[in-house]
Parts: sequence; C-alpha cells; structure tokens
Amino acid sequence: MEQLLDILLGQVRFHELGPRARVVLNQLPLNLTMLLVCVIAEVVRSDEFTEAGFLASQAGALLILAACAAVPWKRLPPWSHLVIPVLDFYVIGLLRFTSGDILSGLGLLAAFPIIWLTGSGYRPRLMVAFGGVASLLMVWVPHFANRTAAPSTLAAEFLTPFMMLAIGMVTAVMAQSAKAQQRRVQELLDGSETRGHLLDTILETVDVGVVVFDREGEVLLMNAQQRELHATALPPDADRAHEPDLLVYRDGSQQPVPTHERPARRAIAGETFSHEVYRLGKGPKARIVSVSAREFLEANGSRGGAVLAFSDVTEVVAAVRARETFVAAMSHEFRTPLTSLIGYAELLQDDPSLSPAARSDTQVMARNARHLSRMVDDILTAATSGATEDFRVPLDLARLVREQAVASAPQAAGRCITLEVDADGQVPILADRTGVVRIIDNLVSNALKYSDDGGKVRLEARREGTWAVLSVEDDGIGIGAEDLERVFKRFQRSSTAVRSGIPGTGLGLALAQEVAEQHGGELSVASELGVGSVFTLRLPLRQD
Ligand code: ADP
Repeated sequence: MEQLLDILLGQVRFHELGPRARVVLNQLPLNLTMLLVCVIAEVVRSDEFTEAGFLASQAGALLILAACAAVPWKRLPPWSHLVIPVLDFYVIGLLRFTSGDILSGLGLLAAFPIIWLTGSGYRPRLMVAFGGVASLLMVWVPHFANRTAAPSTLAAEFLTPFMMLAIGMVTAVMAQSAKAQQRRVQELLDGSETRGHLLDTILETVDVGVVVFDREGEVLLMNAQQRELHATALPPDADRAHEPDLLVYRDGSQQPVPTHERPARRAIAGETFSHEVYRLGKGPKARIVSVSAREFLEANGSRGGAVLAFSDVTEVVAAVRARETFVAAMSHEFRTPLTSLIGYAELLQDDPSLSPAARSDTQVMARNARHLSRMVDDILTAATSGATEDFRVPLDLARLVREQAVASAPQAAGRCITLEVDADGQVPILADRTGVVRIIDNLVSNALKYSDDGGKVRLEARREGTWAVLSVEDDGIGIGAEDLERVFKRFQRSSTAVRSGIPGTGLGLALAQEVAEQHGGELSVASELGVGSVFTLRLPLRQD
C-alpha cells in the first residue's frame, strides 16, 4: 500500500520496483474492481453472495492476489508472472457467468489481464492472439454451458472480445514502441558512457596536461599530467594556492605574469591562443610549457567554458639552447684560429726563402686546414639548417658550374685528375646562391676526394624538360649498393670511404639534399663499387 502511495505520488517509478511488488500492483486493480462488484451486488441483490460461482470467483481472485504476494518471482523465469493474467481470465469468466444478469459490462474486466499480457513485451503477437481467444471463450463458454449457444446469441456477444482484441493490439504496439525508445535511450547512454571512458583514458595517456574550466572559472576536469605541472607552479611549502599566487613566468623573466594576463584567466575570459611559452615554478624543478587554449560550446550552442593544453617543452628548450651554445662556441673557438692558420700558411707559401720541401709541407698544412675549415662549416650549417633565411635570386647553373671548375682546377691538377666541364649554354634557375654553390662545391670536392690520382671527373650542366640538371661523374672508389641510400643521411659514410681513411663528416650530402628539396628539386646517385659514381642534381628550370 505504501508503495502504491509512493507510486501515485511519483516518488517511486514502477520499473524501479522489485518483481513481487510489480506483480501485486498489476493484479491489484482487478481485485479492487471485484470488491466494487461485491458492493454493487450487495446493493442491487443481496442474495448474490450465496451463489457458489460468485463466491468461488471472489475467492479465486483473492487467492490469486495472495499468490502474487507469496511466489518468489525473482527466482522464476521473467515470463512466469504471465500465468497470473491467464488465471484472471478464468476468474472473470466465472464472475461474469454467475452475475452477468445483474451487472452489465463485467466482460470489460478482461481489459486488466489483456493489458498485462500484451503490455509485458513478451511475444506480443502471441499475447494479443491469446487475449482475443481467451476473451471470446469467456463470453461464449457460458452459452455452451447453459445450452443457449445459437448463432444469434454468439454473434451478439462478439463485441466484448473484439474490444479486448483492439485494446490488446494498441497496448502491444505502445509497449513495443516504449521498449524501442528505451533501447535507443540505453544505446545513447552506453555510447556516452563509452565515450566518457575513452576520454578519460586518452586524458590519462597523453603526455600533455589538460585542464577544463566552466564559464565561471571552476575546474571541471584536470588530468594527472596537469596536476603534476600545477604542483610545480605552487609556491614553496604550499599544498594549494590561488591563481594569483601560482609561480607563472614568461620564459626568461623573473617577474610573475600579472593575474589577468595568465593563460587560465584569458582562456576563461574567452580568449583563444596557441603555443605560448611560460615557465612554471622556480629553481631546478621549474618546467617550461607551451600553452594552447580553446573555448568549448555546450550542446545548445552556448559557451561552456575553456580547455587548456600544457605541453612540457623543458627538454626541447634545453636542447635548442644547447645547440645555440654549441654553434656560438664553434663559430668562435674553431673558425677564428682556423682562418688565422690558413692565412699564415698561405703567406708562408709565398715566402721566397722557403726550401721546396718546406713549401710542399706548408701546402699540405694549408690544404688540411682548409679541409678542416670546410668540415666546421658543414657542421655549423647542419646545426643551424632550417633557421637560416632563404634568399632566392635568378642564377645560371651552367655559370656556377664553370666557376666551380675554375676553383677546383688546382686541387684536381695537384692530383693529376682530369676535370672535364660541359656547361656551355645557359641553365637558368631561381635559387639561394649560397645553398646551390655549397651543393656544387660538395659534389665536386667529393668527386675529387673519392677519386684515385690520375682519375677523371666530368661536370655537366644541362636542361632536361622543366629541369636544370647538374651531373658530376667520377671514376673513383664508388659506393656499394648497401650504402647508396645511407650516404644522404646525416653523419653516414660508405664503408669503403671509412676503410680508405679519407677524412669526412658524412654531412655534406645530407645538407645538399635538404637544400635541393627546399628548392623543389632532388639529388640522386648512381654508383658502382670500384667503377665510379654519378651524382645528379635536379632543380626546377627558371621560367622567365
Ligand atoms: P663526407 O664526404 O664528409 O664523408 P658527404 O655527405 O659529402 O660526407 O658524403 C657522404 C658519403 O658518401 C661519403 O662519406 C662517401 O662515403 C660517400 N660519397 C660521397 N661522394 C662520393 C663519391 N663521389 N664517390 C664515392 N663515395 C662518395
């Protein structure tokens, strides 16, 4: 009763009840109506109670209600409670049979078991058919029992079963549709729960600190990575702190960022920004972070709040600084003494008082110093590549090749290498002069370096369709097939070159290929061990 009241007051939902309470509540309306029938029978004709059939039907209804309350439905299969409405048909049929002449419309009581059966959602078609047949039997059986069954009397009773059938069909359809809706809602709930789990897993997996604020600036969500970063920004000996007390600096500054300029404040105010660099905390534990912020919208399109992502870039910043320091050190510590060494060695060569043997030694000194200088240049270029500006100007590749040939002639002559040049016409390109000169110089000096004395190096500049092409061919040591791909990677040298003791850094070709690609071109090689190599540079031909 209490539960019935709760349900009527809307405090408890029917589907939240246990199976026993549900079965009792399904049965109760029929019993209450049958009680009403008793009252009416008393008012209309008091001798009704004496009729055995009437009493049996009332007793049957009470027994069924008692069974509803007594049976442990939880332990039985879920459809077992449907036995009750089937029994109800029998009780209603008996009641109608014994009191049909005093009370009209008793057949409508069948609506209770019909609704129960067809609304159960279990085999809806079967239940509708069963309900229809049971209602028909309920009205026809008395006629057969009283021997009043004639086509006219049977036809006259047809209305009640038909109405029951209709009620059954409508209830079944509504129950099916409610079930489908429930399934859909469940699917949506499951989907959103899965998405929730997925989001949690992503947030705890990614290496980025994520914090989400609502419109009012309250933290909705913060992942573990962000909690760590937040702890770094706390003042010393503080377990928690308000935003103004957090140690947040612009990188390089010792002044905390003013509160209203802090990333979280600006994001909450609706600002969107990307990759701003800040330092959190002080001392050796300080972390440098790159912060991005976006606002997010709620389902109805209104502003929901802001999401901030903090990437810890401490190591990257340290690496960049180390590189800058290294480049600066290389420039000063290596280049300056080398330049002086080359200068003095060249001066010495011109000294007429030098003996031929001493002059030859000085030449070797100067050559090696120049070589060292070129290697330092390569390393510096590799360290700063990507950071330098690119000035493209109209150039003639053929002319650059001719100039290189002139510059390399003494070196070739010194080793009796024939330097053949085929670069007569014009081969126009639009390129960064320093970059292209560096490529040509690298290819030619490699060809000379990796050739035996007395060999031959051939340079050719030509047009090929829309390409300006330079090929540098030598008959030197060549490159083994297994090394061909590697030689374009930084610090990679062929095993033959390493074995022959020819000095090098393995940087020149890698840089040359980078520059060629920056210009929309390519650098390739064809080579055979012991036979020689052909390096081919292709750059887009300048269209005037
Ligand atoms: P480095 O010559 O300083 O070692 P490079 O990047 O210029 O660096 O060349 C990479 C490697 O490619 C060289 O170490 C050498 O093994 C190979 N290589 C380059 N040019 C030639 C060539 N003309 N003949 C044979 N091997 C070459």
